[in-house]
Amino acid sequence: MSWESQVGQARVASILHNSVKNNRVAHAYLFAGNQGVGKLKMAIQLAKTLLCVDSDGEACGKCHHCLRIDSGNHPDLRIVTPEGTSIKIDQIRELQKGFSFKAVESSLSVYIIQHVDRMTVQAANSLLKFLEEPSYPVTAILLTEHVHQILPTILSRCQVVHFDELPFESRVERLKSEGYYEPIARIACQITADLGQAREWCQSEWFAQYRNLVLQLTEDILDKGSYALVTIQEKILKNEQGNQGLPFILDLLVYWYRDLLYFQIDRKQELVNTDQLDAIQRQALRCSRPWILKGIDVVMETKSRIGRHTNPQLSLERMVIQLQEG
Ligand SMILES: [Zn+2]
Repeated sequence: MSWESQVGQARVASILHNSVKNNRVAHAYLFAGNQGVGKLKMAIQLAKTLLCVDSDGEACGKCHHCLRIDSGNHPDLRIVTPEGTSIKIDQIRELQKGFSFKAVESSLSVYIIQHVDRMTVQAANSLLKFLEEPSYPVTAILLTEHVHQILPTILSRCQVVHFDELPFESRVERLKSEGYYEPIARIACQITADLGQAREWCQSEWFAQYRNLVLQLTEDILDKGSYALVTIQEKILKNEQGNQGLPFILDLLVYWYRDLLYFQIDRKQELVNTDQLDAIQRQALRCSRPWILKGIDVVMETKSRIGRHTNPQLSLERMVIQLQEG
């Protein structure tokens, strides 16, 4: 592991590498970024560089510090993760107790707190004191996916490092390597840049079902009959508890129409619904380009109406009629 091996985070690696080289390491960092962007890996890399005996800005990977960090048992590096759903005050007290003497084997200690936004109020207050009064050389690295949920008092004591989004293809590759069905992973990664969120969608049954509904709806719309309204009433609204899923369905619909457009203008390598090429081709032949462009606008406008709490049934029916009138 080295600074260069931090996939997709060259910018962040270079900032941290430089601060170590120039001896300007902050005493507290907050690493902020979506799940899966490599915050923990980067935090361990920083800890290793700080604790390594032979570090000249880059951990040697061979000394006993580096080896102990690799095996997960260096006495001067502690990693706190939520117990259950939150980080509790006892965990922070335990951490402080562990640091009440100077570092065991090194000239400084490092602690990493994962999901620091999940601290209880008591834990956060306890951590705050700890951040304010480091009585010995210690570097804190706090990790979060929700930087906006961090107390300002904690934020102001940390150097905030924003991680970059993983590129689209890297996210798809990651989910694919975890065994998820690639076409569904592609759609999920297209709609959200958050790998954790995309993974949850891939795991859920409804995501694939929604896509099938969208496929059926687009066929019904093109057939111009009244089936489209029946699909909306019987298959979408009836099964949609509290209409939570409607924005997703409309996102899927936008990406479907975008696929029709990309098929027509020969940008097939950018298609999202890669497992539905036959249906895309069939529909793309039946639609004019202006109709598809207008369709995308109509669907986006419908999504925005529903976001403003307009009656979902009325909004969806209006959308279908607009699309069918072409
Ligand atoms: Zn080393």
